[in-house]
Amino acid sequence: MTTRAPYLNSRLQGYTTTIFAEMSALAVATKSINLGQGFPDTDGPAEIRQWAVDALLAGHNQYPPGKGIPELRNAVADHQRHFYGLEYDPEDEVLVTAGATEAVAATLLALCEVGDDVVMFEPFYDSYAACTAMAGANRRVVPLRRPGWSFDPADLEAAITPRTRLVMVNTPHNPTGKVFTREELELIARTCIEHDLLAVTDEVYEHLVYEGEHVPLASIPGMRERTVTISSAGKTFSFTGWKIGWACAPAPLIAAVRTVKQFLTYVSGTPFQYAVASALDAGERYVSNVADSLRSRRDLLCEGLGAIGFDAIRPSGAYFVTTDVRPLGYEDGVDFCMMLPERCGVVAIPSSVFYDDPEAGRPLVRWTFCKRREVLEEALGRLQVLAR
Ligand code: PMP
Ligand code: GLN
Repeated sequence: MTTRAPYLNSRLQGYTTTIFAEMSALAVATKSINLGQGFPDTDGPAEIRQWAVDALLAGHNQYPPGKGIPELRNAVADHQRHFYGLEYDPEDEVLVTAGATEAVAATLLALCEVGDDVVMFEPFYDSYAACTAMAGANRRVVPLRRPGWSFDPADLEAAITPRTRLVMVNTPHNPTGKVFTREELELIARTCIEHDLLAVTDEVYEHLVYEGEHVPLASIPGMRERTVTISSAGKTFSFTGWKIGWACAPAPLIAAVRTVKQFLTYVSGTPFQYAVASALDAGERYVSNVADSLRSRRDLLCEGLGAIGFDAIRPSGAYFVTTDVRPLGYEDGVDFCMMLPERCGVVAIPSSVFYDDPEAGRPLVRWTFCKRREVLEEALGRLQVLAR
């Protein structure tokens, strides 16, 4: 799905398009139901939206401070303490970013030397690979194996080299919906400590957990001092277009990340920073609703896809379901997803884009359930023609 771009530097060949934008464009062009890109089809709470309007009308429309408005940095620090017992100084241990996307990019660009290795779990979210490449670093992957998406500790050990700089962990995990267990995180922590590695965690789905509990890697003893914890407001409050994210880490790590961030966007989204600060300040009020409202839609989509004949793996977190398309007679998820809009008027994501291993991801397809119930029901109705 990627093309060669003549002017693009060699590190970034192969990253010319993001699959999510490409498939959303296909959904629009074919008037299909979009179960591809993960964004809700209803806005988050009206009060939070109103807070953004209020901030805009109150004149919060110029550059905010480089590290983010104090209200939001305080709110992020309070959130980490309230939910996880983690202490961060809002002055120099919290950085506001343009979504988690910028936090990931700035962190990898800041921490890696050219030629370093970055360890990540496969399947991996697309930006980790692209940003590792931008940094001139190399990725080393540890496979997550179906059906439980567990990993073999020997694979993690084998991925570590003398050039390993950091381990990237995404929990809850996109695309699988895996929520890493405390035991798994303790094992990753032991590996980081033993090899003196940094860790970068992407926790944007921290409040979208249906089974188990979200454990930040930084809360495991010995990890706070070596971990950059990244999250964002997009998933928690259902405002993915606002692009307010943050990173929490000890001051020297945040100073490094901020050095890059200030030359990527410098700052962004002043009125949205105010609205997100107020949303976080409301504590559990908004964050507990989001998983409750998604759980039944997860069940609807998993059961519906299962009834059609897909081998669907029920996720513990995030808002994606992965299916194997082979029980329906298909071999390749890319071919399947290219056929789907015309045949059924539905768009999904071929999971091979999250894999280096061409075989492991080939039969897998990712579907999102962060859509209204009636939209999921309509999509499942349309998919009935595939039932054998
Ligand atoms: N990390 C993961 C795992 C994601 O799924 C996404 C997609 N939203 C992001 C990061 C990007 O988050 P943001 O929209 O806050 O940049
Ligand atoms: N995180 C969203 C997904 O996985 C997409 C965000 C994006 O388009 N970069 O579907």
